[in-house]
Formats: sequence, structure tokens, C-alpha cells
Amino acid sequence: MKKDDRGRTSRQARRYQDMKRLLSFDGKGIYCAQADVHIDPWKPVAKAFITHGHSDHARWGMGSYVCTNASVSILKHRLGKVKIHGIAYGEAMMVNGVEFTFFPAGHVIGSAQIRVSYKGETWVVSGDYKLSNDGISEAFEPVKCHTFITESTFGLPVYRWDPQEQIYDRMNTWWKKNQAEGKVSIITAYSLGKAQRIIQNLDHSVGKIFTHGAIEATNRALRASGVPLLDTTHATANLDYKEYAGGLVIATSSAVNSNWTKKFKDFRLGIASGWMQVRGARRRRAADIGFVLSDHADWNELNQAIALTEASEIYVTHGFSEIFSQHLIEQGYDAKVVKTAFEGEQLDSTEEEKVA
Ligand SMILES: [Zn+2]
Ligand SMILES: [Zn+2]
Repeated sequence: MKKDDRGRTSRQARRYQDMKRLLSFDGKGIYCAQADVHIDPWKPVAKAFITHGHSDHARWGMGSYVCTNASVSILKHRLGKVKIHGIAYGEAMMVNGVEFTFFPAGHVIGSAQIRVSYKGETWVVSGDYKLSNDGISEAFEPVKCHTFITESTFGLPVYRWDPQEQIYDRMNTWWKKNQAEGKVSIITAYSLGKAQRIIQNLDHSVGKIFTHGAIEATNRALRASGVPLLDTTHATANLDYKEYAGGLVIATSSAVNSNWTKKFKDFRLGIASGWMQVRGARRRRAADIGFVLSDHADWNELNQAIALTEASEIYVTHGFSEIFSQHLIEQGYDAKVVKTAFEGEQLDSTEEEKVA
């Protein structure tokens, strides 16, 4: 193997070069050596700054956590007794001369982009984000920087979202139709983010909205921290199936894949996911309908968000990273793919869903 004059392989030399930058990828997460802080680490570290409460970004086993005030109850609910410090959006925190500031990412309640500044150099770690305001997550704020780290879950031109109001209209219409036929409507959604979006935006005058336990537990944590969520009823085992008639149930995908749905007897199944944009994804899961609703940026939003940062250097992570970074290079950006342990939107989500 070829080595340089210090006896390092080219890979080691490159990693050494990277380590000297304000942020680097050290195999445990996104690392700021100057502050000795990791952002969204996927392996245990001493100090973790967390963009949002999804399980691929907020993992168990860190010495301490810093997240937005709105994320504190979510992290406590998901991680149990851990050391957490809450910070307000826009409030600067100094660690060994490095300034960390959290800005709304518009992805889920409490989600943030983390701006890291040191000696005139500024990076933004965006975590997951979307630009359209869902009315419940704090709305995305563009943040100027030199280097921007972006996801690329839906980084293909085929992914373009219709206005969300149209999606809610379609959901309401589908629900009423099922109700008229005496069927229960079940929609699968992430327990943090999409579930609350659907709860807040569907027409509660149509009927009762029920939730799977994992979603109800998240709702409880959010309500306790002051989020004004509309009423939902926990779909417990002791409810008679007749009580569900004409109702709408929001469940996690793993619940639907289990025996849990048996109690509803006659139901129709809908999936709310950005992946529903592509034909075949719904049929493969034997759903009756797909609703194209995502908490991630679509193709246009990704491009728009990147332009708004005015960054010249872009790191592209989870998703269609190769294709999307190639597209950015063609637009004149210094774009590179970086491997992380983050997941994009999952059809069969791995979020904790063990609650009945
Ligand atoms: Zn997420
Ligand atoms: Zn993610």
C-alpha cells in the first residue's frame, strides 16, 4: 500500500486532514474536535448534541444530551433517565470557543438544524428537514453557512409533494367513504411527526380518531410538555370492535404487520409516506390507498434549502446521496457523499413500537 512521507496511507492522511476541520465524521457521528462534541452520534460518546427525537438521531448511551426545549420530553420518553439539557431555538451555547445554535428544521416537533461556528467558519448540520410548514412543528428557517450537511432521502426529481391540504382532503374523503360502508379506516404513520400532523389536520367532525399505543404514548409526552394536540382515543384491547365503527385509527406500520389490527374486524388500510409517490410501493404492502405525505424535503425543497444556505460546500448523507451530490456538482457546488448511520423515511419503521 502506498504511504506518504509520514508513513500514512492515503485514506489515513485524508482522515487526518478531515479531523482538522471544524466538523468531521469520525465513525461515531458528526464530530467537532475543538468542542469535543458529537452531533447525532450513533455510537456512545461523552457529549451529544441532538437534532431531533427520531431513533436514528437520538440514541441511547451518551454521557449527556443537548437538544431543543421542545425535544426534551420526547428524548426523556424515548431514552428514559438520561442527562439532558434543553436549549431554546436561537440561543447560542459556547463550548471551548465554538458557538452552537439550534434553528427550526420543520421536520417534527422540536427538530433543529445545528449551526456550528468557530473563528469565522460556519457549518450547519440539518438532521432531517422539510420546508413546508405543517402547523405543528416549528417552521424551517434557512441558516447561512459555508458548509451544509444535508440528507437526501427523496433526492430524486420524481419526488415532488402536492400541497399538504390536498392530502388531508383526500384522507377525509377516504375516511367518509369507508365510514359510509361501515368500515374502520386505518392509516399507518410514524409515531413522532406524521401521526400528530394527521391528528391536527383531519376533520374531527367526521368521527373519532383512535391511536395505537406507541402513538398515544408519544402524544401523552407531547401534551404533558404543553403541545396543544387535539383529542385522540387510545385503541386499547378492552374496547369493543363496535366502538371503532366509522372511526379512523392511526397506527404504526409494525402494529399493522402484527395481529393488532384483528380487533377492527372490517377495515381499510392507508399508508402515509413519501414513498407512496412511486407506484408499486403501496401494492407491495397490500394497502388500499397511499397518501403521499412526508416529513422530509422533496426534490424541490432540497434544492431550495441548499440555495438558501448560500453554502458552497455540501455533504450529502442518507438517501439518494450519490445521485443527489452529482446533481449538486453539476450546479457548481463542492458536494461530497458521506456515510452516516442515519435512515431516511422508512416504510417499515424501526421506531420503538412495542407498546400495544
Ligand atoms: Zn427524522
Ligand atoms: Zn433521519
